[in-house]
Amino acid sequence: MGIKVCKFGGTSLADADQIRKVKDIVASDPDRRFVVPSAPGKRFDKDQKITDLLYLCHEHARQGITYEDVFNLIVDRYQQIANDLDLDLDLTPPLEEVRQKIAEEGSDYAASRGEAINGLIIAKILGYTYVDSAEIVKFDANGRFDSEGTQAAVNERLSTLENAVVPGFYGSQPDGRIKTFSRGGSDITGAIVARGVEAEVYENWTDVSGLLMCDPRIVENPNEIESVTYAELRELAYMGASVLHDEAIFPVRQAGIPVNIRNTNEPGAKGTMIVAEEAEIKSGAITGIAGRKDFTVIAIAKALMNQELGFGRRLLSALETNGVSFEHLPSGIDTMSVVIADNQLDGKLDNLLADIRAECKPDNVVVYPNMSLIATVGRGMSRHPGMASRLFAALADADINIRMIDQGSGELNIIVGVEADDFENAVHAIYKAFVA
Ligand code: ASP
Repeated sequence: MGIKVCKFGGTSLADADQIRKVKDIVASDPDRRFVVPSAPGKRFDKDQKITDLLYLCHEHARQGITYEDVFNLIVDRYQQIANDLDLDLDLTPPLEEVRQKIAEEGSDYAASRGEAINGLIIAKILGYTYVDSAEIVKFDANGRFDSEGTQAAVNERLSTLENAVVPGFYGSQPDGRIKTFSRGGSDITGAIVARGVEAEVYENWTDVSGLLMCDPRIVENPNEIESVTYAELRELAYMGASVLHDEAIFPVRQAGIPVNIRNTNEPGAKGTMIVAEEAEIKSGAITGIAGRKDFTVIAIAKALMNQELGFGRRLLSALETNGVSFEHLPSGIDTMSVVIADNQLDGKLDNLLADIRAECKPDNVVVYPNMSLIATVGRGMSRHPGMASRLFAALADADINIRMIDQGSGELNIIVGVEADDFENAVHAIYKAFVA
């Protein structure tokens, strides 16, 4: 049987009740041999995450302010979990060690203790071996993640174990100092462990039953995505959809290990599978819709542009000299538009326009601010006629003017640009046309 690596997020481990669910989930499948926990997260909306409290303690210590009160909140939280679970585990020594060291060590050390101590609890309740991530997740002296060194260490340490709990989020540098990934980084640890033990699947347990086809703040109760390829996910994530830490994809994608997003509160739901490119899908179906606001389009027109050697290069070099990167470059015979995220433009627009005029000598330049981009993504669109016409008809029926159209060359997505005011209506209309 293949190995399953299970990463549990903060809300899945926020209190004893949640941890009992985790125990049942792991116990229900003997293939779930490696578990990567986050630190306890929020139990309710206004609650504090342990990681945030640890950062706060460190910050207080740095400024010479007493951090005892905040640290006691952390102690209480862990002790309550241990008591509620009736664990035969004395957390006082590790907690007191953290209390001592928080002032001496860096903020990464402080933050990492949320996972480290939670790992002790989870290992105890599961009866699994505890493996300190500092031993196997390696960073170089500059703090860069050492992928090869880590893989070798993970493989060597874990391959002889029947099971283990490996705390998420951190590792160590060659001098032994603790280093964390960026926030949300337990996802990365899970992916690293999955690759290291050559898992059959990387289960990422969270508080949603998978990825949704679109933003639930725009469309009520959208369908869940059953399966999505890495390439589709990249398109959707770029457009703002998020569940997994971006960097978490790479280790498992490289190794061809599928990721299964699962819901700790609904373990019966299949969740979303993130799979390799070749996975089947119904032809003509879309996978998801995502969008982002705050773009500006600069539309440039010049008669006989198509025959003018170097026009595109001159336009792009104007962008480059102004330090502006662009997102899309839809073009016609005598027109070219540049789609730019507003944060790139920040005070640079006038200069950029002057340079474009000087370099390209266009007949006409028009700037459209307040643009939104909406990506309709789906590997099922490829080689399926009529997808674009359905999309455009839906937008026309909703009386939405399309400012820009861009279809990726892999036919994986169709991106439309609409006015910011039309954004929500456009997402609705597209969803209705393809799904509802
Ligand atoms: N506990 C860390 C954070 O809050 C890492 C994680 O949960 O993935 O960012």
